[in-house]
Amino acid sequence: MKIGIPKEIKNNESRVGMIPAGVFELTKKNHGVFVQTTAGEGSGFFDKDYIDVGAVILPTIAEVYAKSDMIIKVKEPIALEYPLVRENQIIFTYFHFASSESLTKAMIASKSICIAYEMVEDEEGTLPLLTPMSEVAGRMAIQQGAKYLEKPIKGRGILLGGVPGVAPGKVLVLGAGVVGVQAAKMAAGLGAHVTIMDISMKRLRYVNDVLPNHVVTAFSNEYAIRQHIKTHDLIIGGVLVKGGKAPKLITRDMLNEMRPGTVLVDVAVDQGGCFETTRPTTHEDPTYIIDDIVHYCVANMPGAVPHTSTLALTNVTLPFILKLANNGWEKACEIDLCLSKGLSIVKGKVCYEEINEAFNL
Ligand code: NAD
Repeated sequence: MKIGIPKEIKNNESRVGMIPAGVFELTKKNHGVFVQTTAGEGSGFFDKDYIDVGAVILPTIAEVYAKSDMIIKVKEPIALEYPLVRENQIIFTYFHFASSESLTKAMIASKSICIAYEMVEDEEGTLPLLTPMSEVAGRMAIQQGAKYLEKPIKGRGILLGGVPGVAPGKVLVLGAGVVGVQAAKMAAGLGAHVTIMDISMKRLRYVNDVLPNHVVTAFSNEYAIRQHIKTHDLIIGGVLVKGGKAPKLITRDMLNEMRPGTVLVDVAVDQGGCFETTRPTTHEDPTYIIDDIVHYCVANMPGAVPHTSTLALTNVTLPFILKLANNGWEKACEIDLCLSKGLSIVKGKVCYEEINEAFNL
């Protein structure tokens, strides 16, 4: 099969769909790989690295689309790319169809095979191609939160780990899923005192088993949250209600219960956020202050660490890419039911009723 890796053209996107290790595996199986020039540069992979493992570098995005049977990307195609997508071409990437009518209509019209990373689901119901980005965001939440606790950026002026003779800072993590556990682990590693809350006893038992003793679990309810916010310096929002908007666990009035300079990091901002005062921000302008409380609500946190994020993403996508390349999409989806869940729009037909319903199609 001929596989194409275009350069991402969405604003501020420096990740790339395949690293040289992936090209190495594909060329070993006699597949051809076309990489658009400089596609990997933002993530630290250069044309020469791809050439060394057998890729052909092409100068334009149009040529990559024109010559490839399967396109591997990170973000959904944007309007400039719509006309490049061809009939029967496989497009394997994050799509998030329900949030864009123009993308949905363009992919229906293209008669391509759209397989969405975010819809691939394993036997336990988890989403293996979304997990690595939650891992990145969870860990990064503490890195960012620690920075914004510094006084010059209007934080409380707290060093999370403390020093000998001075108590460490306190971190409250809402949600003990992928984001929450990774955040708690990072905060604990810095020496902070950590409390993690969830409504799932199963998750709290898991955290209690795997994280150190200075990570304390607490059942999540409004009373408990109101008590904890009074004494914690950094609060991480990492809750998710599958298929729904995030519940508003911290309401506007609660900000007055916090100490000035407390930092809120709402990782769940992409699902509407779990703080009432959340509004999406960008890496260029990541924070804002309401009632002396610092808010960090960047919707694409992994985009700031493209090298790590690209490696984390391509670790999990490559096995599926190999399956698609070796078998073609129909057979690959027959032998791998997890992958088949990713089929979202196939030759003009929408596979998920939710996408049709979103736009009255
Ligand atoms: P997850 O499903 O692994 O975990 C969510 C947890 O929230 C679950 O354990 C669930 O029981 C818990 N929860 C639900 N309601 C709760 C409540 N009322 N109180 C306490 N806990 C509650 O999800 P995840 O992978 O950890 O993702 C969390 C959020 O982070 C999602 O919205 C995801 O889209 C988002 N995310 C954002 C970025 C970003 O860049 N901002 C990156 C990755 C993920």
